Amino acid sequence: MPSFRRVCVFCGSNHGAHPEYREAAGALGRLLAGRRIALVYGGGKVGLMGVLADTALAAGGEVIGVIPQDLVDREIGHGAVTELHVVGSMHERKALMAELSDGFVALPGGAGTLEELIEVYTWSQLGLHDKPMGVLNVLGYYDGLAALLDHAVQEGFLRPQHREAMHAAATPAELLAAFDGWRPSRANKWLHRTGPPPAA
Ligand code: AMP
Repeated sequence: MPSFRRVCVFCGSNHGAHPEYREAAGALGRLLAGRRIALVYGGGKVGLMGVLADTALAAGGEVIGVIPQDLVDREIGHGAVTELHVVGSMHERKALMAELSDGFVALPGGAGTLEELIEVYTWSQLGLHDKPMGVLNVLGYYDGLAALLDHAVQEGFLRPQHREAMHAAATPAELLAAFDGWRPSRANKWLHRTGPPPAA
């Protein structure tokens, strides 16, 4: 995967209820390190973030953390990453993570992970970037999101081309293979741009 120099991973600041979540974070960290792809992540030591960073570092990988100052203490900024960027706000964090990365992966996580993933998804639809993104669907964690996005297509709120941009795979290797084969859609976000205005 030569064109992918850095991949951003969004993931939980908790470990989740099953060991498979930690195992998936470790497998992704090892795979990125093995392929010489730098990991860009939230810079914390807690939850799946910590597992991911520790595993990538132990496997000889490059790890770039991006964390807001006010979370350095609360999420315990990782002290041993290759590079740690301490920024002023959550918005700066997301902007820098996106700028540094060639693609985005979400492991299981909570509201923060979902917010980060959906934001880069919306930026892709608007043509603000053309980087691939997808979820590691460990234990079917993201089945509900997939169903909601399918529903959004059926109900006329999401283009099928944009739906396809949200990849899902059971293993990190499958997800990176999907990234490799993906070509961004140039479809306009608005389905009914020329349609009539709603009746008063
Ligand atoms: P969570 O999935 O809720 O455990 O959060 C995962 C990561 O997302 C943590 O590093 C949170 O600090 C981060 N996070 C939560 N909300 C936001 C946000 N609005 N912008 C950027 N990062 C966030």
